[in-house]
Amino acid sequence: MIPVTKPYLPSREKLDRYIDGIYEGQWLTNNGPLVQELTRRLEEYLGIENLLLVSNGTLALQIAYRALGISGSEAPAEAITTPFTFVATASSLKWAGVDPLFVDIDAETWCLDPALVESAITPLTRAIVPVHVFGNACDVEAIDELGRQHGLKVVYDASHAFGITYKGESLLKHGDAATLSFHATKLFHTGEGGAIIFKRKEDLERAKKMINFGITGPESIEEVGINAKMNEFQAAMGLCVLDEMEENLKARAAVWHRYEQALSQILQLQAKPEALDYNYAYFPVVFESEEQAVRVLDTLKENGVLARRYFYPSLENVACLNSQLEQPVSKDIASRILCLPIYAELALEVQSHVSHVIDAELKA
Ligand SMILES: *Cc1c(COP(=O)(O)O)cnc(C)c1O
Repeated sequence: MIPVTKPYLPSREKLDRYIDGIYEGQWLTNNGPLVQELTRRLEEYLGIENLLLVSNGTLALQIAYRALGISGSEAPAEAITTPFTFVATASSLKWAGVDPLFVDIDAETWCLDPALVESAITPLTRAIVPVHVFGNACDVEAIDELGRQHGLKVVYDASHAFGITYKGESLLKHGDAATLSFHATKLFHTGEGGAIIFKRKEDLERAKKMINFGITGPESIEEVGINAKMNEFQAAMGLCVLDEMEENLKARAAVWHRYEQALSQILQLQAKPEALDYNYAYFPVVFESEEQAVRVLDTLKENGVLARRYFYPSLENVACLNSQLEQPVSKDIASRILCLPIYAELALEVQSHVSHVIDAELKA
């Protein structure tokens, strides 16, 4: 079966050398030398400051909320977010005692529609948690401004936005914080892992304590923290993947552009702003109807190709998230979308086969 994505496996020899180093130094976790090196390398690569490595992208969101004082532990709290995302965006809020309040997406960009945000704000709203979905830039100017006007924190779930620049600068610079996931299936990965990019140094310092149980010295515990530390093996994988990022991106870009050439005339693609420099992490396509999307999904499967219904269902339809309101645009896009296989070594024949199957189904 051809999967929708494949974890990028970097040079084994290089990884072995890092692991030899871990054995020699006998330092396995707790802000070890490789975690420190990866922090520096990522700040440089991404063109940002105040980056904190953590053990996964879901904890990145949760630590960001806590560090910014977004919490439902003392009084009821809400955060405005998008229903068109991976479940962790919303479930991480719920886990922090904050009720996710879904607001619909834009039909072209599939990101949170800022025009709908303002009227959804209530006295309980503490934050806006938008998602740069599939790496597309949210309307960051409008959302950052709404945050300022209403005194709300803005946390971007930037799990898909590794390496993306907007107007010549890292997209991760927007918001009070932006979070990344380094899960194995993501463009850049550490097996499991994640990071938070804070706007302010003092928030980074608070979060650093939080991820290490609130411990601040050999005999001092300042607050209730958690364990969200990245370990040295994760960092070693990250350093190796980062070294090969350019080749990986080049190969993915070629795959992405071939799909675009074959499919952009017959299917709806995600609309991105001119000023966005994309990372080729995903190739989502929207069909005319749910029936057509499901038919293509099934036919591809019969042909040994696993496309995926990302993101489906729209999260206001997930019962445990207790949402009250339907979000028609998100629901509609979610019902008609498929993500096609994309990874560096996807064979040319497989890719043309996928395009042919889709073309034939549309004509059937
Ligand atoms: C992958 C992902 C997460 C969760 O990241 P993990 O590292 O798997 O915990 C959160 N939000 C979005 C949008 C994601 O795609």
